[in-house]
Amino acid sequence: MKIHEYQARQLLADAGIPVPAGSMVTTSDEAHQVARDMFEAECGLAVVKAQVHAGGRGKAGFVKLARTAEEAHEAARFMFTNRMVSPQTPPDGLHVSKLLIASGVDIDSEFYLAVTLDRDSGCATLIASAEGGVEIEQVAHDRPEAILKVQVHPLIGLQQWQARDLAFKLGFKGKAVMQAADVMLKLVDLFNGTDASIAEINPLILTPPSSDHPDGQVLAIDAKFNFDDNALFRHRNIQALFDPAEENQAELEAKEFGLSYIALEGTIGCLVNGAGLAMSTMDIIKLHGGEPANFLDVGGSATEEAVEEAFRIILSDDSVKGILVNIFGGIMRCDTIARAIVTAAKNVGFTVPLVVRLEGTNVTEARRVLEEAQTDLPSMITANDLDDAAEKITRAVG
Ligand code: GDP
Ligand code: MG
Repeated sequence: MKIHEYQARQLLADAGIPVPAGSMVTTSDEAHQVARDMFEAECGLAVVKAQVHAGGRGKAGFVKLARTAEEAHEAARFMFTNRMVSPQTPPDGLHVSKLLIASGVDIDSEFYLAVTLDRDSGCATLIASAEGGVEIEQVAHDRPEAILKVQVHPLIGLQQWQARDLAFKLGFKGKAVMQAADVMLKLVDLFNGTDASIAEINPLILTPPSSDHPDGQVLAIDAKFNFDDNALFRHRNIQALFDPAEENQAELEAKEFGLSYIALEGTIGCLVNGAGLAMSTMDIIKLHGGEPANFLDVGGSATEEAVEEAFRIILSDDSVKGILVNIFGGIMRCDTIARAIVTAAKNVGFTVPLVVRLEGTNVTEARRVLEEAQTDLPSMITANDLDDAAEKITRAVG
């Protein structure tokens, strides 16, 4: 599960990591008001940031610095009325419905700091770079030696000396060394304590020297977390951060019926049972030159109603030009699927070709049901095996 930056900043702040103040807003007038209050409180700089579950906002123009409340208002209006397109969004971008208005800070240097699971060593690993900011992917690609890694011992955790050593290597000086090391230790604790799969601060910044902080101040000004869904049951506070608006609506509906639906970019809707069969169905579609529009796994024990809902979800996607049903009835009975096809035809209507391949439990009964329905269901084509089915559906969608 992903969360927004404003929520991630709150988690950091609660863990004692210094983060500039900010408020989440949902309208540009609210943004204006919050910015006005900030400038009245003697904050010389505000930053307006789109809250979406995708990175690359800075380069896309969805992180903007404002020196007056009017500038913040204008930036907010822009973000609410334009879709954000970055390498991490779908090609048509994402709608922005929330913004963070944060107090802006002066930056001396930007660092990258993250904790994630390194599957090679089987350890949580701290990843850091003195070249943080919006180009971190490029740095990792061009100069992997600029990325430093420290393994976190599974029993004794990150040691103080490891954190200080890393802070020195990143180039922190004087009092900033202890500040940076403290952020590292707290980030590792947060990662472990929330069952995160990634806890990332990019950038972690050092402010220019001031009279209060002659060595500069270390602050987190952007953060991203991803949590292990299988561990969410033991983190009520994290569950509460779930934002349904950021999820694919069809995937959410499917979940309510116990179906797993994954939207993809092709034209062939796939209704299958079991993740393994879903993978091979997609492979064989591609082998025949087609592209799957989704995969919808009805699982082992779906009811007729759930399967009807599955068809409704697949057909609600305009890019679906044909549907391939590929079921191997083990626990799932083929006749349940056949009956669901007939009711879905009545209640939803098949506007696109439908190729059906059924095998396994109760297949004879299923074939009888489909044969009887054939005249009322002219768009249905039955197939003998998976290869035949893939060929028929790719031909049918052209
Ligand atoms: P991202 O592009 O989605 O990762 O968004 P970030 O929050 O990381 O912001 C992108 C970049 O904007 C940062 O790397 C900074 O260079 C800049 N930026 C963000 N907040 C501030 C701020 O408060 N002050 C200044 N001077 N720059 C900022
Ligand atoms: Mg960032």
